[in-house]
This record gives sequence, C-alpha cells and structure tokens, in this order.
Amino acid sequence: MSGVTLTDQFGRSIEYLRISVTDRCNFRCTYCMPLAGLPWLPKAEILSYEEIVAIVAQLAPLGLRRIRLTGGEPTIRPQLVSLVQQLRAVPGVEDISLSTNGVRLPELAQPLRDAGLDRINMSADSLRADRIVAIARKSLAFDPVVSLKAAEAAGLSPIKINVVVLRGVNDDEVGDFARLTRDHPWHVRFIELMPVGDMRELTWEHVVPTAEILDRLSSVDVLVPDDGPSRGNGPAAYYRYAGAPGTVGVITPMTHTYCGTCNRVRLTADGRLRTCLFGDHEVNLRDALRAGLPLEPLFRDALAGKPKEHALLQMQVGGLRALSQVGG
Ligand code: SAM
Ligand code: SF4
Repeated sequence: MSGVTLTDQFGRSIEYLRISVTDRCNFRCTYCMPLAGLPWLPKAEILSYEEIVAIVAQLAPLGLRRIRLTGGEPTIRPQLVSLVQQLRAVPGVEDISLSTNGVRLPELAQPLRDAGLDRINMSADSLRADRIVAIARKSLAFDPVVSLKAAEAAGLSPIKINVVVLRGVNDDEVGDFARLTRDHPWHVRFIELMPVGDMRELTWEHVVPTAEILDRLSSVDVLVPDDGPSRGNGPAAYYRYAGAPGTVGVITPMTHTYCGTCNRVRLTADGRLRTCLFGDHEVNLRDALRAGLPLEPLFRDALAGKPKEHALLQMQVGGLRALSQVGG
C-alpha cells in the first residue's frame, strides 16, 4: 500500500474515486430518471476508456487507491471488461468495485472478476417481477437473485445490495430482503429516498425514515450491531441477525451523519470532478487532459473547495441533478 494521503480542507483523507462511465441506462427507475430518458451526453463529450485510465494514473500517485465504476448503468457501455483490466494495471489502485442494476451480471460477472473487479453493489428494489417492472419501468425479464448468485459464484466479494425504500411501493419487502442475509453472505443496505433528479412521481410522502426501517428489521429478529463487510467503509450502519452470513444496514443520506468522514470524490461521464454528490461545484478535468495539462493542481484546488456537508434537507424534491448524471 502506498503511504501517500490526500486530505481536504477539513482534514478528511480522500482516497476513493467514483467514476461514471455513462449517463445512460437500461432502466428508468422512478426515483432516478424520467421515463423518456434524459438529454444524453453526446459521444464526443464522454471520456474514452483511455482518458479515464489516464486520469486515474495521474491521481493514484496522489493517494487515490479505491475506484468504483458507476453510471447511469455501467454494464451497458461496451467493453467494460477492458476498462477494468486497464484500471487494474494502474500502480496504486488497490480496490475496484462496480455499482450496477444487475441485469447484465449473469453474463458479465465472471469476465469482470477475471479482469480484476473486486466487488459489487447491486441495486434491487423488489424481489417481485411485477414490482421490478413497475419501479424500473423496463421489462427485461430480470431476476435479482439470479444476478446476485452469479456475482457470488464469480468470486466477487463482498456483495452489497442497495434497496431504496419507497412508502406504499416496496416498504413491505424490507423483511424479505433482510431474510436473504440469513441464507447468503450478502449485505443488504436500505437507503432513504433522496430529493434528487426528476422524481415527478414521488413526494416526501414516499420517504421512509431510517427509524421505521429499523423497526421493520427488528420485527424479523433481534438486530445485533455489526462492523459490516470488511471491504469498503461506506456510510452505512450495519447489523446482523444471530448466525447470519450476511448483514443488514441502513444509509441515511438526509442527515449529516457521514459527511464528516466522507472520503470520496466523483468523476462524471464527461470528465467533471465533483467533490460532493449534492453540490454543484465541478472542475473540468477532461478539457485539461485533452489540452495536455497536468491534473494535479486542478485536483488539489477541487479538494480545497470540498464542502463540509451537504444541504439536502433544505432542498425541494427534484431540485438537483439525477444521481445517474453525476455518478451516484
Ligand atoms: N445503475 C446503477 C445502479 O442502479 O446501481 C448505478 C447508478 S445508480 C444512480 C446508483 C445508486 O443510486 C443506486 O443504488 C440507486 O438506487 C441510487 N439512487 C438513485 N436515485 C436515488 C434517489 N433519488 N434516492 C436514493 N437513492 C437513489
Ligand atoms: Fe438506472 Fe441505476 Fe438510475 Fe435505476 S438507479 S435508472 S438502474 S442509473
């Protein structure tokens, strides 16, 4: 492990880069994207894989050790396996993870693992076929459990499952998801709905507070606080049912409980570095890279402006860009 660390103005060490490889998606989740899609970025605006690797190669020596590929849906961009292979070869990169809706995992999990992918976070908001279609608004004959088993069989670990809990839509499935952790070494994290993106169909009424999610989890069995999966120290609080191979967790984006330890920055598909998921401050690394300029001074400037915390609670539903656009 390299000893270099980068810190921001509040002393937080920054070692984690989330890279959006595309703003497009094969789903249209109600909380993320309008049914008609978004004004997609033109191809020329999007970083090529060579450019992504060049950016990582300049930032890794400064202390970036962990990478997450996300989107939009990263697995719909052609040749994702080759990107993973190239990133794995960058000195200093210690951990590569993927955020995905899981649709393409049955065929991609093993090639991605062989290319050097370490682990995945898979979104799954329902275990029922009709509901998956109602939430994702695309009918792709997809079974999340089949995808999760494919990821496990490929050796990806840990496997985390992200469930956005929506009142009256899937909140009655909290227990079903939680029970999966008794049979599988999977880590199910329940996420509060955030007021970002289009969300025309959703309101504050759909937000299920964490306290209520914990009540539902406790009704399955006694919750024992746990350290959670060993790799990736994200913003979740974890619990385990006695004897279970997996864990359950809650992520509470609407409170500031994890801004103080935030160790991440984001690279959008068109090469903008964002230091806070919910802020609008961006630094254009792509044009600097294309002009042959060094990225380190831009990166250090961006970190100097990383905000102390987000202001989500002050915002209106639909007031911010969708997570698919900023690499959620
Ligand atoms: N397509 C991939 C996926 O769905 O995992 C990666 C990108 S997606 C934008 C990343 C995560 O953001 C997903 O877990 C999704 O559930 C979450 N997300 C998107 N919009 C959200 C919202 N309004 N509130 C809470 N979580 C949201
Ligand atoms: Fe696509 Fe992920 Fe957004 Fe759903 S949450 S529309 S899968 S980017």
